[in-house]
Amino acid sequence: MKEKALQWKCANFCGACCRLAPLERAEALEALDPDQEKKYMSMVGPDGWCIHYDTGARNCKIYDERPEFCKISSLTKLFCKKESESNTFAIDCCHQQIRSIYGGKSLEMKRFDKGVRYASRQNQNKSKQGVN
Ligand code: SF4
Ligand code: SF4
Repeated sequence: MKEKALQWKCANFCGACCRLAPLERAEALEALDPDQEKKYMSMVGPDGWCIHYDTGARNCKIYDERPEFCKISSLTKLFCKKESESNTFAIDCCHQQIRSIYGGKSLEMKRFDKGVRYASRQNQNKSKQGVN
């Protein structure tokens, strides 16, 4: 599969990016504006996880109202210069987060990669059929 054809897809039951411990997320924090940084810091729980993260169900308790900086589309806008690189950037981000929380050979990593492969195949099939 060509790298440019990869399609990012969030994995169920992951939540690795909801660990906000500032020392572990220095790069992300640096990219935020002062208001966003204040909001971010207000969300850091005593255990380093976001106070809105349900660690049992591994999901966001305020998903529909989550801050813009939690959305992968915002993250790619902050860090990606080219739209064409946004998918590979998002995939790299998730790999980094998942590796640091669960490990490179974890079930979470396998589930994420499987989801990306599936979404990428779906996209390729759509382009072959001329569907957008
Ligand atoms: S690290 Fe990636 S796959 Fe995991 S929850 Fe966050 S966006 Fe989804
Ligand atoms: S607000 Fe929701 S999506 Fe954002 S870090 Fe917290 S739990 Fe994760």
